[in-house]
Amino acid sequence: MVKVVKFGGSSLADAAQFKKVGDIVRADEARCFVIPSAPGKRFSGDTKVTDLLYRCYRLAKDGQDFSDPFSQIKSRYQEIIDGLGLAVSLDEEFAKIEKSLKSDPREDYTASRGENLNGRLMAAYLGYDFVDPYDVIFFDADGALEEEKTRYCTSIMLKEHPRAVIPGFYGQGADGNVKTFSRGGSDITGSIVAGAVRADVYENWTDVSGCLAADPRVVQNPVPVKVITYKELRELSYMGASVLHEDAIFPVRKEGIPINIRNTNRPEDEGTWIVESTCQKTGYTITGIAGKKDFCAVLISKDMMNSEVGFCRKVLQAFEENGISIEHMPSGIDTMTVVVHESEFMDKEQRVVSAIHRLAEPDSIEIEADLALIAVVGRGMKSTRGTAGRIFSALAHAHVNVRMIDQGSSELNIIIGVENRDFERAIQAIYDIFVITQI
Ligand code: ASP
Repeated sequence: MVKVVKFGGSSLADAAQFKKVGDIVRADEARCFVIPSAPGKRFSGDTKVTDLLYRCYRLAKDGQDFSDPFSQIKSRYQEIIDGLGLAVSLDEEFAKIEKSLKSDPREDYTASRGENLNGRLMAAYLGYDFVDPYDVIFFDADGALEEEKTRYCTSIMLKEHPRAVIPGFYGQGADGNVKTFSRGGSDITGSIVAGAVRADVYENWTDVSGCLAADPRVVQNPVPVKVITYKELRELSYMGASVLHEDAIFPVRKEGIPINIRNTNRPEDEGTWIVESTCQKTGYTITGIAGKKDFCAVLISKDMMNSEVGFCRKVLQAFEENGISIEHMPSGIDTMTVVVHESEFMDKEQRVVSAIHRLAEPDSIEIEADLALIAVVGRGMKSTRGTAGRIFSALAHAHVNVRMIDQGSSELNIIIGVENRDFERAIQAIYDIFVITQI
């Protein structure tokens, strides 16, 4: 049995957290490959080491003094070294980082040092080998992951290092410089490593006991989700639920490796299992609810639209020409609505409107802003009668006006458009009807 274990920043924020991580890794022989993030926040209001590193980079780039955030970073690591009693010095590493900031500051290199240094400490603490992802994770000239090469090099390298720490978040760009993933990208490193060694499980340790059925900022104490499929998670993450980096699913999904989200501060909790498919029933008809605010609906009407071949294509071309991606597209007989992100659309709206007129010659175009989208997701919905009915009656009782409905063809989700101001109330009402009343 081989497990790849990734620890997030809050799990490694100081020496006390490092000790918990050490106990977790040592408690199970199978935990052979460890992926650390950089030290995160120790308390609310604290600054993540990655953010301090970005600050150093920005100051250095503008030729300003970066000694203040730089010394804060140094002391964060020193506290860990002292607290664990490690016979390790990072002086040489800090000298290299300082030199690079002074002579040729590079954003990705600087940011990646948070994970790199934490990886060195973690390897020393556990007595594991240190493997630099610079040598095994590769990006192409467009910044996309070179999947095959990365997989091959990672698996070969890790055969030689059967117990290793591989820092998260970065690899090597096509130009030979360090390149990072986007923020939160250590999740992707963990997934790549798990895929490359064909791990039995990818454990992702964080500060919550798994996925919750709704955003705790909207719903008080939402219930945890025990088992969720990759597809369900994808739908929820796309709509704003932040459990894992959204690109972290693909490498393990390809191999059918389950992900187990665990809580470093409560290792006894089983957490959430993210799996390809399962016969386990969800406790409730729905698995989770997530949503986002600030969408725009562009309503296009034209008499006899339905019989005009190519009408949709022409409308979509107007959005494509302007580089705007489309979220949803509910349609009527002589109307179609295109839902887009307000922030992407705002500056280009008049260009899009005139392009639609030019290409599709509609009778009228109306734009409505301040739309929020809510995704109600659940593999159990397909086989349960009355799910939609319950959602809409709950919304009606909560005095929420539904502006749009879109049921995905997989019947895995129902997307509901409401006004921004009704967003929280709508989520609470849907949660209550499925989870609190448990019908
Ligand atoms: N340290 C990086 C960040 O703060 C990457 C990660 O933690 O996954 O975004």
